[in-house]
Amino acid sequence: MAANDSLFLSAQEAAGALSVQRCDVCGETLNERDASPACPACGGLLAIVHRAPVDAAGAPLSAMAMRQQFAGPCCARPAVAGGGHASGVWRFASLVMPTVGAGMVSHPEGNTPLLPRTRVQAYAGCEGLLLKHEGYNPTGSFKDRGMTVGATQALRIGARAVACASTGNTSASLAAYAAQAGIPGLVFVPAGKVAMGKMAQTLAYGARTLLVRGDFDECLRLVQVASKELGIYLLNSINPWRVEGQKTIVFELLQQLGWEAPDFIVLPAGNLGNTAAFGKALREALALGLIARLPRLVSVQAEGASPFARGFAEGFATRHRMQADTVATAIRIGDPASWDRAVRAIRETDGLVLRVSDEEILEAKRVIDAAGVGCEPASAASVAGVRQLVSRGVVRSSDRVVAVLTGHVLKDPGILVSMHQEREASEGANRPIEIDATVEAVARVIEASRSTEVAS
Ligand SMILES: [Zn+2]
Repeated sequence: MAANDSLFLSAQEAAGALSVQRCDVCGETLNERDASPACPACGGLLAIVHRAPVDAAGAPLSAMAMRQQFAGPCCARPAVAGGGHASGVWRFASLVMPTVGAGMVSHPEGNTPLLPRTRVQAYAGCEGLLLKHEGYNPTGSFKDRGMTVGATQALRIGARAVACASTGNTSASLAAYAAQAGIPGLVFVPAGKVAMGKMAQTLAYGARTLLVRGDFDECLRLVQVASKELGIYLLNSINPWRVEGQKTIVFELLQQLGWEAPDFIVLPAGNLGNTAAFGKALREALALGLIARLPRLVSVQAEGASPFARGFAEGFATRHRMQADTVATAIRIGDPASWDRAVRAIRETDGLVLRVSDEEILEAKRVIDAAGVGCEPASAASVAGVRQLVSRGVVRSSDRVVAVLTGHVLKDPGILVSMHQEREASEGANRPIEIDATVEAVARVIEASRSTEVAS
């Protein structure tokens, strides 16, 4: 147990600072600008701890005043110098990086929609289902929220380069934010295991891309050693500033719901960085009075990469690892880095961890895609998870459920080709039709689709 795991910094502990980095394990604190990737004393994960927001007179800010502060800057206004005002991350700066000033590296990001879609609701069996679509971020995934904060930190500590290991989305995001910050970016990805869209983005934005002969878990170990020896600032999911940025998915969705907590928040789970960040955000929101009760967190893993689900089923008695294999490459992780924090998040919210098969993932993806929303395979795990919980009677149709879609449909064009165009493409495939350049040929296609619709 941590020596001191208070949620906010006491004035005494802060010694004038608004934020510090604190070790999860031994409680050692570091200056907020320290670049260590882990606790120098014991190797534990570092977390950012802030002073609870105060007003000009130093008195604690009321929940009402905080909500007003967050409602001010928004996407409806043009970005001012610094770019912060149009960002769905930086309007929560007082709970993310209070000392940021105007120096944020922002595209901007966040301000993603909360979508009600009847076809997806009908499929999941939940009328109260809303989709928080993080694929609307500038590089098409939720990673931009953490990366804007991580890149800002890199800039203000004068990092000479930034690096990460990634299944793809993080590398695309790091590449874009490193370019924006003017800092060289270095990404380590498993050779042959990264979706085409993500690789294309990483190369386009100009990061140095290393294809490692090994899986994600090996990439992660390599980048950690390399960063330490070469003095490169590490922007992996365990970077404490990235966790701060990721919290804003929760702050933003709560704000969109009028600070009325939903019954469930359901998210895909691989490395468990989001599960951990969501837990921290909810803990803080409750303690500050922004919400009156906690929603239940539900982490959904792919069957072939489900060590956390196995742990949950056994009451988290053991930390499991496995050789990961799933069509959902973004959550193809066998040894999740944020395990302990995610356990805490699930326990504190009376949460659940599920596993869904690749078939369930692709079926849910087909429904989300055909509703005109679209998402990458891993994202669909959340909707598949909701459907499973409804069928088990855990979620009722009238419950308010937010399912997080983590990435854009174009992240993984390879899977779309195999779902719709390959010879052995399954039922529900939307095959392109080659025709002669005549009006009659078009008319025949329309006639054929009409009879299919009548038949179905
Ligand atoms: Zn420590």
